[in-house]
Amino acid sequence: MEFGTQTIQELLAGYRAKNFKPTEVVERYLKNISERDEKLNSFLQVRPEETLKRARTLDAQIDNMSTLPLFGIPLAVKDNFLVNGWQATAGSKVLSGYISPYTATSVERLEAMGAVVVGKVNCDEFAMGSSNENSAFGPVRNPWDLERVPGGSSGGSSAAVAAGLATVSLGTDTGGSIRQPASLCGLVGLKPTYGRVSRYGIVSYASSLDQVGPFSRTVWDSARVMEVMSGFDPRDATSSKRSVPKFTEELNTNSKRTFKLGVSRAWLEGVDSDVAKSFDSALEVFKKMGCEIVEIDLPHTKYALSTYYLIAPSEASSNLARYDGVHYGYRTQSAKSSEELYSRSRGEGIGREVKLRIMLGTYALSAGYYDAFYLKANQVRRKIQEDFEKAFTQCDFVVSPTSPSTAFKLGEKTDDPLKMYLSDIFTLPVNLAGLPGLSMPCGLDSRNLPIGFQLIGKPFGEAELFLASHQYEQARGQFALPSMLKGKG
Ligand code: GLN
Repeated sequence: MEFGTQTIQELLAGYRAKNFKPTEVVERYLKNISERDEKLNSFLQVRPEETLKRARTLDAQIDNMSTLPLFGIPLAVKDNFLVNGWQATAGSKVLSGYISPYTATSVERLEAMGAVVVGKVNCDEFAMGSSNENSAFGPVRNPWDLERVPGGSSGGSSAAVAAGLATVSLGTDTGGSIRQPASLCGLVGLKPTYGRVSRYGIVSYASSLDQVGPFSRTVWDSARVMEVMSGFDPRDATSSKRSVPKFTEELNTNSKRTFKLGVSRAWLEGVDSDVAKSFDSALEVFKKMGCEIVEIDLPHTKYALSTYYLIAPSEASSNLARYDGVHYGYRTQSAKSSEELYSRSRGEGIGREVKLRIMLGTYALSAGYYDAFYLKANQVRRKIQEDFEKAFTQCDFVVSPTSPSTAFKLGEKTDDPLKMYLSDIFTLPVNLAGLPGLSMPCGLDSRNLPIGFQLIGKPFGEAELFLASHQYEQARGQFALPSMLKGKG
């Protein structure tokens, strides 16, 4: 049996039937990584000894696996999460060599329920980017076409699962960094409601927008990771005290509900024709399932990009002040004064795009400009939230393509930041409004590249999101595999 493309559900069934045990599965995944990742560059660190040691302790627990909902599930973790003993570079030279002294709550919860970390994966520096080309450790390539980007910033998380190097992975999403790469790699990606998952132990980018979420092959798998990882954490004051539904059980019990999907045609103007076609045929599938499509208006989404690019850099400029060559990571070799130590360490350690954002944010927050930029952006943010609140009086979900285009070529957008930023036009408003958004594959374009469909839910409406997308997934049938995996089962 070839391991790599199995879902959590399939691996659990295999363990239950004693077809294999965790060490065998983990060994196969580690082998896949060593054989396939040279081409992809998705892994920044693997520790086979540690990983196998952990798998062996699980082998001994196989008879009690029913108490561990993620028993023996290989997990890849974006390199902006802290996992005790593992590196956490956040894709930046400034953090190269940094070893985490503790574990992020999200990862800790998954490990406690049986997940096995197989490696730390590549990402854009400090999660800033949409193509993984801003990583200090080189770009990641898309398993569907090695000349193309996997999306970003969680490009390693998406490429690793798409290529069969992990069953599921974790990413962070500040403006689209889970949903857009999931879309470009043919996976399910969820950005939960702000506050649903603890941010403790992730490297902060823009704290009022950042959320942790899973990449998986199926909606059920995403639901399983979420039911284990979500919920209040005293170590993150913004995490919510709401109870966490048993998402996978709800998928079984509520499987016949129908929903109203809201579409704003004005918002969708300008998407690539293959994407538009595939989006419309997915709507037809929903109609056949008994869902109703209603036209809604989101008049302020046209300001989402400018709003995001004031708020996110402002928060980043403050969060990233700590990388000063004294507290963490990279320190210049050539400073003659403490001021020089700070400026050179930052100057040499931090990459171009991140510097650009720090400057933008510092400017927007400076006295005299604060009201005109940062404050104004927050007022517009509120208007965008209100657009969604109003839309949700008419529909259960707002839907859109996840990204206006499919995977683009490496280098295609690196010279033009605005072009790159436009990749996130459908995902940014969701973070600004704090809502849950799920991307799932809905088709292939003429080049055989995956297209993503996004459902945006009400606050803490993850259970309904899973239900609707699970129903769609069953109507759609199993999604294609990248050609590098064809015939690998
Ligand atoms: N592409 C967006 C940015 O560069 C979003 C990134 C993210 O969600 N982390 O900021």
